[in-house]
Amino acid sequence: MSNKIALLPGDGVGPEIMAEAEKLLGALQQGQGLDIEIEKAEIGGAAIDATGVPLPDSTLALAQAADAVLLGAVGGPRWDDIERERRPERALLALRSELGLFANLRPALLYPELADASALRRELVAGLDLLIVRELTGGIYFGEPRGIDKDASGQRRGYNTMVYSESEIERIARQAFISARRRYGHLCSVDKANVLEVSQLWREVVASVHADYPDVVLSHMYVDNAAMQLVRDPRQFDVIVTGNLFGDILSDCAAMLTGSIGMLPSASLDSTGKGMYEPVHGSAPDIAGEGLANPLAAILSVAMMLRHTLDEGTLADRIERAVGLVLSEGFRTSDIAGTYRAISTVEMGDAVVAAMDRVPA
Ligand code: NAD
Repeated sequence: MSNKIALLPGDGVGPEIMAEAEKLLGALQQGQGLDIEIEKAEIGGAAIDATGVPLPDSTLALAQAADAVLLGAVGGPRWDDIERERRPERALLALRSELGLFANLRPALLYPELADASALRRELVAGLDLLIVRELTGGIYFGEPRGIDKDASGQRRGYNTMVYSESEIERIARQAFISARRRYGHLCSVDKANVLEVSQLWREVVASVHADYPDVVLSHMYVDNAAMQLVRDPRQFDVIVTGNLFGDILSDCAAMLTGSIGMLPSASLDSTGKGMYEPVHGSAPDIAGEGLANPLAAILSVAMMLRHTLDEGTLADRIERAVGLVLSEGFRTSDIAGTYRAISTVEMGDAVVAAMDRVPA
């Protein structure tokens, strides 16, 4: 039975980069017999313009019925004055919670050809290939009680609650062990167990889940040290698993190591392997409509979708190698051009599709 893909281009550069992702999927359908059905829907600002809300019921229903969601980006200055609850970005939060997407996977992969774009020296980052697995639907961002009130003296105080249940920790740990098993077999769990009880439980549960994945080497690290190690020696990491808050911060830090936001894909998975796949970057309104956007984050998101939801790991590997090939041949969009001649969004998409035939099966 064919897999159903909900394609949600969104706003700004979203439709431009998603057109390239769709072109690649079309080529895989034709050339590799990939059995998928693609259906498109509006989300974000485009959906507000069409229907008045950022996540129309029909889009949510399509996403729920699909095996995977491929999303461009949402938001832009046109919708910045709308009240908070109806802003384009609300659609993403709603989708994540409606689809139960608790595991956020953010690879930070630095193609050797782009090592000079990194915030760190080439010799520290060339060949960097790490994956951050961030818990996405729990922890301090969702914990209760939360709020701002007044204490007995009348002074205002703000508070949030960092809370994780054993089952929440266990399911993200399992996802991370599986990811480590698919990669180089090392998992580092990041917490603050020297100060926080919630982290002590985190550490205990991750260690007990390890019994089911004895082939994976597990280590633990405090988050302050992890932040330091990410900029000191990032290549020591394979997979990092951590909670929502720490993962939010560390994954942005890891993103900077790779230099270009136009290169970074992400996946958000539920407990059945269904997922939403999207570039890390936003709608880039400053370059939208000009054919300047780098489509590689979107194309690498397709690779993640093939690997994690469609069980097409070999095709995913080929896409990633095709991206490496076009970079080694000097194809560059303007964000990564440096001294190279910059090509357009469409030309980069064409180059990757053409390179698929040149990488070994
Ligand atoms: P952004 O990621 O859109 O852009 C930051 C910078 O990176 C810009 O200079 C942009 O031109 C550049 N850039 C981004 N993607 C690129 C690509 N593929 N190729 C080349 N250059 C690229 O972040 P921002 O400017 O802070 O946000 C713009 C809008 O996007 C806002 O409305 C924000 O809320 C929204 N946003 C959406 C998402 C999402 O949909 N997941 C994520 C972040 C921001």
